[in-house]
Amino acid sequence: MKKKFFYGAFSLILIGASAYFIYQNISINPCKKALKYSIGRFDKEFGISEVEFKSYIAKAEQVWEEVLARDIFIYEPDADFKINLIYDERQLETIQKQKTEFGLSVIEDSFKKLDTQFNLFKNNYEVKVENYENALADFQDRKSTYETKVLEWNSRGGAPKNIFESLEAERIYLNSEASRLNAEVSSINTMTRQLNTLLEERNKKASEYNRVAKSYNEKYGEGLEFNQAEYNSGGQINVYQFNTKTDLILALAHEFGHALGMDHVENPNSVMYYLTDTNTETAIVLTPEDLAELKRVCGIK
Ligand SMILES: [Zn+2]
Repeated sequence: MKKKFFYGAFSLILIGASAYFIYQNISINPCKKALKYSIGRFDKEFGISEVEFKSYIAKAEQVWEEVLARDIFIYEPDADFKINLIYDERQLETIQKQKTEFGLSVIEDSFKKLDTQFNLFKNNYEVKVENYENALADFQDRKSTYETKVLEWNSRGGAPKNIFESLEAERIYLNSEASRLNAEVSSINTMTRQLNTLLEERNKKASEYNRVAKSYNEKYGEGLEFNQAEYNSGGQINVYQFNTKTDLILALAHEFGHALGMDHVENPNSVMYYLTDTNTETAIVLTPEDLAELKRVCGIK
C-alpha cells in the first residue's frame, strides 16, 4: 500500500514537472509573454521626475508595441526586472559639454553683434574719409587757381575793382572751406579712435571664441563614446546618459529591443544600430532592418 501510495504521489509530481516544462517553453518567446518591469535606482540629478521617466519608458514601449499590436512591456511596481537611471561621470560630462556649447553660442552672439557694429561704423567712416578727400582735392585746386591769379595781378601792379572783389570773395570762401576741412579732420580722427576701439573689442571676442572652440574641439571633436545605456540579461536596463527626451526614448527602445532578444543590426538609422547619435532630435522610426530582427526573435513570418 505504501508502495502504491508512493507510486501515485510520484506520478503526480511527474505531471507537475511536465506542465512546468511546457510553461518554460512558452516563456522563451518574449514577444508572447509580457515583460513586467519596475523602476529600480532613480537618480534625481538628471533633472527629470520619476513620472516623466515613466512616460518616456512608455514611449519607448510603443516603438515595439505598435508593430506587435499588443502590450509587451508592462509597468508593475514590484516587478523584478528593473529599469535604473544612474547618474555618474557620463551624464556629468554631457552636462559640461552642453554648458560649453551654450557658452560658445553666447560668445558667438556677442561676436556677431560687435562684428556688425564694427562693419557698419567702418562703412560710415570710409564714406566720410572719401568725401573729405574729394573736398580736399577741390579745395587745393581752387586754392592754387586763386594763388596763381593773385600773383598775376600783383605782378601787374594790382587788379581792377571788380576782379579784386571776386578774388576777395574767393579768399573768404577758401578760408571758410579750410576751417570746415580742419574740423572734418578732427572728426575723422575721433572716428578713427572709435573704429580702432570697436576693432579691438571685435578681435578680442573673436580670440575668446576661438580659444573656447579650440578647447571644445580638443575635448569633444572626436565624439564621446561610452555606454549610454545597457541591458543585462540578469534582468535590468541601466540608463547612464542622455541629451534630450528623444535621445532617452531611443536608448530605452534600443535596450527594450535587447530585452526581447534582438541583436544589433547594420543600418545606422536603425533603433537597433549599436551606436546612437548624441544629437538625435528626429522622431524614432523603425527601419526595415529593425522590423526584420523583431520578426526573427518573435517568430513572425
Ligand atoms: Zn545595444
